[in-house]
Amino acid sequence: MIEVKIPDIGDFTDVPVIEILVEVGQEVAPEDPLVTLESDKATMDVPAPEAGVVRELKVGIGDKVSEGTTILLLEPVSGDGAGPAVVEEAPPAAEPVPEGDLHAQVLVLGGGPGGYTAAFRAADLGLKTVLVERDERLGGVCLNVGCIPSKALLHIARVIADARETAEFGVRFGEPEIDLDALRAWKEQVVGKLTGGLAGLARQRKVEVVQAEARFTGPHTLQAGDTTISFDHAIIAVGSSPIQLPGVEGMDSTGALELERVPERLLVVGGGIIGLEMATVYDALGSRVTVVELMDQLIPGCDPDLVKPLHTRISKRYEAIHLGTSVESLDVGSFDATLVAVGRRPNGAGIGADAAGVDVDDRGFIAVDAQLRTNVAHIHAIGDVVGGPMLAHKASHEGVVAAEVIAGHDVSFDPRAIPSVAYTDPEVAWMGLTETEAKEQDIAYEKASFPWAASGRALTIGRAEGLTKLLVDPETHRVLGAGMVGVNAGELVAETVHAIEMGADAEDIGLTIHPHPTLSETVMFAAEVAEGTITDIYAPKRARART
Ligand SMILES: Cc1cc2nc3c(=O)[nH]c(=O)nc-3n(C[C@H](O)[C@H](O)[C@H](O)COP(=O)(O)OP(=O)(O)OC[C@H]3O[C@@H](n4cnc5c(N)ncnc54)[C@H](O)[C@@H]3O)c2cc1C
Repeated sequence: MIEVKIPDIGDFTDVPVIEILVEVGQEVAPEDPLVTLESDKATMDVPAPEAGVVRELKVGIGDKVSEGTTILLLEPVSGDGAGPAVVEEAPPAAEPVPEGDLHAQVLVLGGGPGGYTAAFRAADLGLKTVLVERDERLGGVCLNVGCIPSKALLHIARVIADARETAEFGVRFGEPEIDLDALRAWKEQVVGKLTGGLAGLARQRKVEVVQAEARFTGPHTLQAGDTTISFDHAIIAVGSSPIQLPGVEGMDSTGALELERVPERLLVVGGGIIGLEMATVYDALGSRVTVVELMDQLIPGCDPDLVKPLHTRISKRYEAIHLGTSVESLDVGSFDATLVAVGRRPNGAGIGADAAGVDVDDRGFIAVDAQLRTNVAHIHAIGDVVGGPMLAHKASHEGVVAAEVIAGHDVSFDPRAIPSVAYTDPEVAWMGLTETEAKEQDIAYEKASFPWAASGRALTIGRAEGLTKLLVDPETHRVLGAGMVGVNAGELVAETVHAIEMGADAEDIGLTIHPHPTLSETVMFAAEVAEGTITDIYAPKRARART
């Protein structure tokens, strides 16, 4: 294996890679261009030193390289010119595929964001695709009883809160009159539009949708109700379900979203994202909310400085917030309703995975590799059932990768960051490295925070409690992580995810002109704090020369 390094490029150092011209597995001839670099004076291609097959890329777009930096590993072709010395072969079909009532090149089990995305991408790549979903409507938890209905209700909560707060600025609307039936109907209408849209998209792509509870009956067969389906490849996308707490009677998030009534006193067991989002809704609708959380902070896993403004605001509104407290120590019976939101359990058990030879661990998770393959090479798994953050955008991105791998593309699921958002009031969002992780893992970082009290936009909307912070590498100032708390933080975090994927440093963000006055400027200002170039606040100690 040859390590292909950056040759002598004159006086240039730390030159960014702006284009990768080859893929892993691609055969190249001597002098074929491999990557393009761009200095402030010119762009230049780095050529292949000899013929070979690209086995591993060592740089990505945005990475900065200098003479001697390894850019890729090249396997030389054998001397007889007969092609690469070793050819990786596609795994052979294990056995002849039995025909069922239906045969699919790709069978997708589960129609949530992971499953429908995988099915649509597979169909777009020309593969005959069957999607099996037990519910009447596609969309899974996210569209039916998760992301979408909760955000519809959170929008109403925000409108109510905004209307209440404008009293401080001299405009009074009076108490809201809430028609629960109409509110529920509106939420259902939003859900119906999206799930109905999915059914249409499946039809347009000729994805056959089978509505039935299904189980594997062999490595290439599945029973879906009365229909036997055989498949060449399968993608398991069966998602997760709420965890019940033994001995605690109460509704789960699905029950809370049904909005049957607004209880006078609501106990929310679990101070994570789902519990706090539902608390936000019921508080706005008029419940007196108590939150109980076993850990010593709300949204465990998120950095404490990001949670603090949320905690401060809701502790003024809610009846009580108990941290480091077990629900057993409370008089649950004294509340009018209880919501249990203590996490979700993967649905890996109960799909007959053993008949297909797929390993499922004791908790119901299915382990996968970077191509989302289970231990059975032609069966992939994605979404909540494979672990990692249980988030819709992670599931859908995995769905794309699984479908593309099956179609023969050389891709893997390798994100630099997966953003998390709590759509509370204020919202909390973060991505990449957190300070908590950096401290635990002894990772060096510099932190640059910008308080929203200095943001013109935050002041114009009367919400100056927010904070935007960047964590950067002390040497390179490349973005390692970011977090923000404040109105619309969930919209702001995307820029920082883009930055980390592009290998951007703080200067890249600081020099990017953001519109004024916007909350998005707070990301730019945090970058300027990191660079020591900030003028909107006085932070002289960090000042450092721009390179
Ligand atoms: C209240 C709430 C709010 C949320 N808000 C957000 C948010 O704002 N943003 C975000 O990113 N994530 C959010 N999530 C998480 C998000 O909903 C999940 O991460 C996402 O739905 C996972 O997608 P999935 O495709 O893996 O599985 P799911 O969406 O769970 O879909 C799995 C599907 O498989 C079907 N299925 C299971 N077993 C079988 C079987 N044997 N036969 C046939 N069909 C089967 C199920 O019926 C289901 O439709 C929220 C979750 C909840 C509960």
